[in-house]
Amino acid sequence: MDIPVDQSRAGVPSVDKLLRLDGLRPLLDRFGRELVTNAVRLITAEIRAQLADKESIDAVSDEEIIARIETRVDLLISPSLRPVFNLTGTVLHTNLGRAPLPQEAIDAIAAVASGASNLEYDLDTGKRGDRDIHLEEWICRLTGAEAATVVNNNAAAVLLTINSLARGKEVPVSRGELVEIGGSFRIPDVIARAGAKLVEVGTTNRTHLTDFENAIGPRTRMLMKIHTSNYEIRGFTAEVAEPELAALAHAHNIPFVVDLGAGTLVDLTRFGLPHEPTAAETLANGADLVTFSGDKLLGGPQAGIIAGRAEVVAKIKRNPMKRALRVDKMTIAALSVILRLYSDPDRLAERVPALGLLARSAVEIDQVAQRIAPRVSAVLGDGAQIDVVSTHSQIGSGALPADLLPSAAIRITPPGSKRKVGAALRRLAAGFRSLPVPVIGRIEGGAFMLDLRCLDDEKTFVDQLLALPEVTRP
Ligand SMILES: *Cc1c(COP(=O)(O)O)cnc(C)c1O
Repeated sequence: MDIPVDQSRAGVPSVDKLLRLDGLRPLLDRFGRELVTNAVRLITAEIRAQLADKESIDAVSDEEIIARIETRVDLLISPSLRPVFNLTGTVLHTNLGRAPLPQEAIDAIAAVASGASNLEYDLDTGKRGDRDIHLEEWICRLTGAEAATVVNNNAAAVLLTINSLARGKEVPVSRGELVEIGGSFRIPDVIARAGAKLVEVGTTNRTHLTDFENAIGPRTRMLMKIHTSNYEIRGFTAEVAEPELAALAHAHNIPFVVDLGAGTLVDLTRFGLPHEPTAAETLANGADLVTFSGDKLLGGPQAGIIAGRAEVVAKIKRNPMKRALRVDKMTIAALSVILRLYSDPDRLAERVPALGLLARSAVEIDQVAQRIAPRVSAVLGDGAQIDVVSTHSQIGSGALPADLLPSAAIRITPPGSKRKVGAALRRLAAGFRSLPVPVIGRIEGGAFMLDLRCLDDEKTFVDQLLALPEVTRP
């Protein structure tokens, strides 16, 4: 059934005929008729297109067709979402799934995922319960809040908060804090979608208390401060401190809400990082409500935490939108484990992987780089220059924007003129991305950089290097 090169469309074997090939039996037994038929259709269409394009295919043997069908079935059946090595140097990388979870949290997810749980069931009374109770007590304990609730992510927390407190009414925000977090989260858009009216206050670099005083009117329902997570305004600047904004809001009987963004529960200076405002500090400064992410500096699953005064939280929980934004049992299971780990701040770096990665020392990362660089050299040959260099990792996710974390990287520099290097770098990056566990690095200064801060499984990384496509080996 070989297909000669000049064969017409009609000459490509029919789907039925291909499905009867003995060689396809194992595939049919394993994956079922529907999926295999689907793959056969795709492959025959491909062959037809190749013939129509007069691409130089001499003949396609049965074995070759079967191999192509097998590869396609593999592609169809393997999940699109899969693990990668994040060697970009950005630890909490939004596009790469942010915080890695500790094993205890993964076990907790598995335990509730595989069967029934008391998600919304009160085991004492045998009556309907509230899913928030699994988290609320711990959030309150760690932040000093009176009440708390949890939603899908911090974007949802901000949306729900504004919609609950200020729908159809006004929300003054400093012009210096109208942030875009990346993707489609922009404070002005979120306020609009929450059904409220943004009142811009002050200027980009300077906002004063009097600006807020002048902006407050009969339609103002809350004051809001947003942590400018991913940029800094330097130079001639002024912002209004939390206690002042809180006092102003309370003088007008409206709540003061702070979107903390990355949100941390501990003083990060214990990990050698600059201080970030904690939820507890902001609430102690007089905020009625804080919102923050579960999968940024907290190191947990994707979630948005809302914590603060009981009366304000109750209003948010009554909003019908809460149901649309709520978290599932797996998130609750993981987050409750993470929160409990915060009861022992001294051991956080060992127990919360995200914090462990942020706390990892440049010396330790350099040792990893020294161990691995010769293996990379061995695979890439003499075509590229391989060095271990010091670099800086980023925290990521808009937390603390500057280059703060001294780290070590393997730098791969292809030879050649500037233009040729560009193409070689793109091939290198694509080659590393095509590995069984794709490796994501970054291109910087004419080299391909692998920042090893987040490399946890050296063996898998090294073992798969031999699978690098020829083209990436200069
Ligand atoms: C990251 C961030 C958000 C969005 O949080 P997600 O958990 O990604 O939805 C909102 N506000 C600020 C200030 C942030 O930094």
